[in-house]
Amino acid sequence: MIIEENMSVQKKLEILSDAAKYDVACTSSGVDRKGTSGGLGNTVAAGICHTFSADGRCISLLKILFTNECIFDCKYCLNRSSNDVVRASFTPEEVCVLTMEFYRRNYIEGLFLSSGVIKNPNFTMELLCETLRMLREVHHFNGYIHCKAVPGASSDIIEMTGWYADRMSVNLELPTAEGLKTLAPHKTRKNILKPMKQIQIGRNELIKPSTFIETNRMSGYAQSISVFDMNSIESEQDQPQILREEANFSLSKSKSELSIRDKILDTNMTGYDSEYSLGKVRRPSINRGFVPAGQSTQMIIGATPENDYQILSVTEALYQKFDLKRVFFSAFIRVNEDTSLPVLPGGPPLLREHRLYQADWLLRFYGFQAAELLSEERPNFNVLLDPKCNWALGHLENFPIEVNKADYYALLRVPGIGVRSAERIVKARRTAKLRFEDLKKMGVVLKRAIYFITCSGQMMHPVKLEENYLTNQLVGMKERLPFGLSGDISYQQLSLFDDLKFMNQNININ
Ligand code: SF4
Repeated sequence: MIIEENMSVQKKLEILSDAAKYDVACTSSGVDRKGTSGGLGNTVAAGICHTFSADGRCISLLKILFTNECIFDCKYCLNRSSNDVVRASFTPEEVCVLTMEFYRRNYIEGLFLSSGVIKNPNFTMELLCETLRMLREVHHFNGYIHCKAVPGASSDIIEMTGWYADRMSVNLELPTAEGLKTLAPHKTRKNILKPMKQIQIGRNELIKPSTFIETNRMSGYAQSISVFDMNSIESEQDQPQILREEANFSLSKSKSELSIRDKILDTNMTGYDSEYSLGKVRRPSINRGFVPAGQSTQMIIGATPENDYQILSVTEALYQKFDLKRVFFSAFIRVNEDTSLPVLPGGPPLLREHRLYQADWLLRFYGFQAAELLSEERPNFNVLLDPKCNWALGHLENFPIEVNKADYYALLRVPGIGVRSAERIVKARRTAKLRFEDLKKMGVVLKRAIYFITCSGQMMHPVKLEENYLTNQLVGMKERLPFGLSGDISYQQLSLFDDLKFMNQNININ
């Protein structure tokens, strides 16, 4: 471990913002650009990232690790204890000064604070908590703060931090307990799920139930859960039954499917609430609520052999059982030479990561369930297709659907029809029969939808509803992909990452 004495705050900022930039809960700007004469504004790459508020505003955050002097040895992480990298730690006061000064200069609107584990989890969490306390109570900082909870830290200090933070996150790291054991031997699934559960129960018990349901949850879940007495969710033993009932809102699910999911996540946790008691710590004088922006997590994709079905099942269980706001996926980047890490010839699985984000969107906003999108027989998405197309091709018996009659949820399942266009269709058809020209004006992506819909009983063109034929048609279409994944999608595109220089980049997962 290389530790430099008397390091300047500027140097620490360089090291610790770089170390934090691959935490995917926020998107790093990654751009350094000076102001120009006649132009307005500049950008700073180091540590500034963007996130989105509940009302859709884009917020710039200072994203840093408190320390990279980590005692753990997670095999996928550049900051693991066995690597020779330059180490640095802030003091709470240094983080406060940086945050306040950046805020005053209008660089940032908030702070994203993560950390390696210095000395032990409690010591680390106390430093994070003290930093947040000073920001709120000494510097009176009222901006957004996202803070990591360190697995293994005491519940009291996590609760205290929850009163100062807006959002907290505990990273699941890897989709299964076996994966964790192999690649992050110092972490256990229990230590990760325990604070997650604590934050969930804390939000439920310590804030008003009316603020508990928010729009970015799984649409079906939020819809169906509102019919239950919110207090009944506080009992962990009651939860699986409640969630089993609500999970049936769109399609029935077999018991065996649920038990697979439970087994993967190992979420039948009982008795944890006796390990901590909530509401015992001193609350700050200004009550902003307990973790009012909820919690999130992230998983590394491709470092361990789990398939998409397992990953999506875990994701679904996290939303349902831990009330997470977001689950983030991080394509595995091989930054360490270690025999237990896979060598991925195509580079980081970014397209797979993108498909999982699209599937996550289907879970949260389209009423899909993991077991509908994938199964043990079809455990992986075809990366050349978006997951909704992938699902439609496996369920051609449901198509074509008549847009003038199909209910809202059936419309949502049509490739090319999104939430907005489905709403517009339902509204517009009250007054007139819809034609294909009308659908285009409503935002329907006709090039995809025409294979799956009829208007007044007619398809736009005669189409063979046959899986291979439709797969070829859909794969041949240009798709708008995120930056870094651009290019024509075709069967040859499986090697599209060959040119990207990801091997030089690092990853940090906390
Ligand atoms: S992932 Fe976090 S805990 Fe693990 S080695 Fe890296 S900094 Fe330490």
